[in-house]
Amino acid sequence: MYDIIVIGAGPAGLTAAIYARRASKNVLVLEAKSYGGQIINTLDIENYPVEEHISGFDFATKLYNQAKNLGAEIKFEKVVDINNQDNEKEVITTKNTYKTKAIIIATGSENRKLGISNEDELVGKGISYCATCDGAFYKKKTVAVVGGGNTALEDALYLSGIVEKVYLIHRRDEFRGSESTVNLLKEKNNVEFIYNSNVTKLNSNEKLESIVVTDKEGIESTIKVDGLFVAVGRIPENQNFGKIINLDNSGYIISDEKCNTNVEGIFVAGDNRTKEVRQLVTATSDGAVAATAAIKYINEKK
Ligand code: NAP
Repeated sequence: MYDIIVIGAGPAGLTAAIYARRASKNVLVLEAKSYGGQIINTLDIENYPVEEHISGFDFATKLYNQAKNLGAEIKFEKVVDINNQDNEKEVITTKNTYKTKAIIIATGSENRKLGISNEDELVGKGISYCATCDGAFYKKKTVAVVGGGNTALEDALYLSGIVEKVYLIHRRDEFRGSESTVNLLKEKNNVEFIYNSNVTKLNSNEKLESIVVTDKEGIESTIKVDGLFVAVGRIPENQNFGKIINLDNSGYIISDEKCNTNVEGIFVAGDNRTKEVRQLVTATSDGAVAATAAIKYINEKK
């Protein structure tokens, strides 16, 4: 029987593990993929207090080592279900069933896909969801970025320094992301903006060769590209918890600023909960808040 099981080894989950270990609780962290969550793909973090510049990989590795060195047990197993039985809760993975007094769900979010034909098949063959991971493969080539948020804008800016040409395709005529980045992009002579348009078709012959873009009037144009970077937002990874945990219409776990969920003893931390600001600093902050709430819950149950 664990005191706390943390689901997810991203910044929120690992911070929760650090706080729980420092309160002498025995902690298991379960992670389906690799530690670090989405921050591991960030080339340079410059908005985390104290560290002026740190790569996402270094940040995640330091955090992972800190949690491990404090005694958190970390296993790479995919959680498929949770059960709540008053004083005892169960976390079920594809390999095992674990018993625990409290659970912190810190599963973050995954890339939203365009949902068009061949998209999955072409991942790694022209389709990417991470410019900083895959941009270097497109040196001196032509790429397109689709999306209108900060990720799309920053991806386009990053790629403009590597590739020959970047098309930035957005479905509206106004960007959701920051105006200052849009202005920087407008100064680049290898970035072309395509507004009011969607990517509707991927043409390939083993790898991506061109994309079809359809505008508001339904007029289609084919653009020859070597790569398409999809940056159309993220989806919270809460699919396995909706049976007992209340989600909002977009799939985020409904919670308050104490990281409570509707179930006593089950808490949520990070990008997969309802909140205003989803940033690295708010993810680690959630980890601390959720762990503190879980520790209090366990101590009061004794
Ligand atoms: P986002 O802000 O949710 O933007 C997603 C974009 O994709 C929107 O422009 C949306 O269009 C578009 N979109 C959604 N579904 C689409 C579809 N099926 N086809 C075409 N376009 C589609 O996501 P994000 O850019 O990943 O950013 C997520 C959060 O992280 C935001 O809060 C963002 O500010 C933050 N972030 C911050 C930084 C930074 O501070 N440096 C960097 C990156 C991200 P509409 O605009 O029409 O809805």
